[in-house]
Amino acid sequence: MFQPLEETRPPEPLQALQVERLRRTLAWIAARNPDYHGALGKPEPADLRRVDDLRTLPLLTKARLRDAYPFGMACLGDEPPRRLHMSSGTTGAPIVNPYTAADVQQWREVMARSLAAASVTARDVLSITASFGLFTGGFGFHYGAEALGAMVIPVGAGRTLLQLQLIRDLGATVVCGIATYPLRMLEVARQEGFDFRQTRLRVAVLGSEMWSEALRARIEAEMGVRAYDLIGMTETGGPGMGIECEARDGIHVWDDHYLPEIVDPDTGAPRPDGELGELVVTTLTRQGLPLVRYRTHDLTRIRSRARCACGRTGVRLDRFQGRTDDMIIFKGVNFYPHQVEQILLRQASLDHEYQIILESDPEHGDRLVVQVESAAVLAPAVLERLRRELRDFLSLSPEIRRLPIGEIPRPQGKAVRVVDRRAGAR
Ligand SMILES: [Zn+2]
Repeated sequence: MFQPLEETRPPEPLQALQVERLRRTLAWIAARNPDYHGALGKPEPADLRRVDDLRTLPLLTKARLRDAYPFGMACLGDEPPRRLHMSSGTTGAPIVNPYTAADVQQWREVMARSLAAASVTARDVLSITASFGLFTGGFGFHYGAEALGAMVIPVGAGRTLLQLQLIRDLGATVVCGIATYPLRMLEVARQEGFDFRQTRLRVAVLGSEMWSEALRARIEAEMGVRAYDLIGMTETGGPGMGIECEARDGIHVWDDHYLPEIVDPDTGAPRPDGELGELVVTTLTRQGLPLVRYRTHDLTRIRSRARCACGRTGVRLDRFQGRTDDMIIFKGVNFYPHQVEQILLRQASLDHEYQIILESDPEHGDRLVVQVESAAVLAPAVLERLRRELRDFLSLSPEIRRLPIGEIPRPQGKAVRVVDRRAGAR
């Protein structure tokens, strides 16, 4: 562990610390951004006596953060921020996160903890494949690795063949990046006859996208690594909010820095432990953009509050099941791309790329097509099994369209899993 005392704090002192930090966060907001404090209902920090008192405060939406572009929600006082990161803004105005010097330190600390939980040590060599820039990925990994004393290869995004060569030639043991990037690496490795068994890779730390257990199994088998799911987003200060440990029994949230809640996505009411709902996050130590009850859109549940086999005491979440804004509604049935991925990737003859396409068909109503890739035409038995599993699991009978490998577009950044061409689609 990077910080054994903090990571194994027993429940009572942890709750006392959470309350103290909540109060400090509210006082910080009140002193530096009266409008933000007003939108919370002007809570007096001292009125918060227990962690659950947080529930009396309103939920914060992504729309509100966007409307505040660039600095409407920032809590900076007279000090200019040391650095800015921001979301891509592909679906609206970007969200700007201004980091104070303390925020940069906080990020370094939680990322070092995260990498250590994934078994990374000072003896490791990290190839960082996430981009270095406004996106939070690259720098987060970089700081965490430096805090651990590990060697960093800051390759950044793209140039996949070069990445592979560097991993082999420079002896990288850990690859870090967005969750679907290893798929691109595997593809280029196949085209170029690159053999992962000739590398020293042993760990992959991946995040920023939804990835199923089936996808993980493929990455692990083909790259010869153990892959860990890392969570966090621009709004929370980047990756490093939590990660799986070597026991891989849920995602540990660093809950002396981030307080998670699970709420009903429709009503916002709290959901009991174990029940699926939307993850809401309150930051306890962020300064530039403190979040109070921020709706992340990620669907998960509290898996356990008990001490883990690894000794850590932080609350554990299930791996994310989907996003409330990724939900597909087709003929009254709700489902998530993740669920389709899980079924597809269990078929060894299918490649890892897929796309769910929704089309309008004036003759027969709307149509649901699942595009898959494979080297050869699908055997009737495989097609039959796919149809049956999709029907059993989703109560839908999509058309399955097989394409040769390489036909589905591979974007530079996050994968595009759903294409909605229905009339009136966004
Ligand atoms: Zn653990």
